[in-house]
Amino acid sequence: QLSASFEDAVKGLRGQATISDTNVDNALRQVRRALLEADVSLSVVKKFIEEVRRKAIGTEVVRGIKPDQKFIQVVYEQLVKLMGTENTPLIRNNGKPTVILMAGLQGAGKTTASAKLALYLKSQGAKVLMVAADIYRPAAIDQLHVLGKQIDVEVFSISKDVQPEEIAAASIQKGCEEGFDCIIIDTAGRLQIDTAMMEEMVRIKSAVSPDEILLVVDSMIGQEAAEITRTFHEQVGITGAILTKLDGDARGGAALSIRKVSGAPIKFIGVGEKVEALQPFHPERMASRILGMGDVLTLVEKAQKEVELADVEQMQKKLQEASFDFSDFLQQMRLIKSMGSLGGLMKMIPGMNKIDSTMIKQGEAQLKRIEAMIGSMTPQERQNPELLASQPRRRGRIAQGSGHTQNEVDKMLVDFQKMRGFMQQMTRGNNLGNPLSMGN
Ligand code: GDP
Ligand code: MG
Repeated sequence: QLSASFEDAVKGLRGQATISDTNVDNALRQVRRALLEADVSLSVVKKFIEEVRRKAIGTEVVRGIKPDQKFIQVVYEQLVKLMGTENTPLIRNNGKPTVILMAGLQGAGKTTASAKLALYLKSQGAKVLMVAADIYRPAAIDQLHVLGKQIDVEVFSISKDVQPEEIAAASIQKGCEEGFDCIIIDTAGRLQIDTAMMEEMVRIKSAVSPDEILLVVDSMIGQEAAEITRTFHEQVGITGAILTKLDGDARGGAALSIRKVSGAPIKFIGVGEKVEALQPFHPERMASRILGMGDVLTLVEKAQKEVELADVEQMQKKLQEASFDFSDFLQQMRLIKSMGSLGGLMKMIPGMNKIDSTMIKQGEAQLKRIEAMIGSMTPQERQNPELLASQPRRRGRIAQGSGHTQNEVDKMLVDFQKMRGFMQQMTRGNNLGNPLSMGN
């Protein structure tokens, strides 16, 4: 009887279901497959999925969507968070040249990315110098000169008989003397990770003390991205990455692997062979691309917005009609408890922007008591709070039924009346203070 009426009280509230161990399995499979298809490395996928699973259990799901769809949204948000939420810009020095060292395997797109970056920085007003420190491939120095001409950026080179670290050191001296703002050092890659390449990178690094060491990774390289990143990061230490060739059909899972393995942000993406084809990295766009479930994400977002809007509109109407009852009270407390929906509510109700997290915590403790008491009310009592105000015997019964003292029930009733008054004031645009401090 008691639990049935509680069911009733809860019906129509926002949290219709939560993500649980049982309903999440199907979604986990979908997400795992999507990540692997996007070429996120297997070990990264495993770790990531377990983390998200733990985080997602217990998450409330709004009407109109399924727990597994909601789970995919949680995964998406976690992906975005993991990749840094916002774009991380390049480090820039004031007064002395910013030194950027390009690292990566042969063919990854280092030389192209050097020119792209040079053009990007030039367009921001910087005086840029590119440095040809790849002395192994015969055409490498020429390639950089050609690109330099194309974008009208000076290229510094010596000859293939001078060691890369000496070339790099000389370029820094020139850069300082001639007032360059940025020096981009293009280095040699190998087809695979090898000791000689790593040692050379370390020597160049000590010769120039770069501000940025950007690992250039071909997004088509797939699963290997994690291992390449690990090696470069352990042996040289990277400050960021550029993910290239995203104009192809790579889903971009390398972005997740790079970030997860090194902790370094992806700063740019390459989207074509042309020197203009460089874009700042945006975690949200990449997360959508990696998941490849844009339709699900849109659906969840839409359902959530609809529920929030419906809740707020319904509440405002009730307040205007002064029919705010105990069920609404419970719903309000729940709304306040979940910050996400509070955000939506705050936008619509003037003066609601003074609620902080301590108040939310206080509200949570109260919510438990209130839920129990409202659960012990009859439907008439819930709809008609005046019945309780006028009949102490009803309050006694509710106290017994919910395991509280009559005093506590009386206090809850006072809280309710304050909340109702507060809500009514709010819709008129007056701020009476903190709605959750009542009864304390
Ligand atoms: P490096 O050996 O690391 O210096 O690589 P390169 O800069 O010489 O690039 C290798 C090849 O990849 C060249 O043919 C480039 O045109 C091509 N490339 C580089 N970046 C991109 C990109 O973002 N998109 C596409 N489609 N091709 C790229
Ligand atoms: Mg090159």
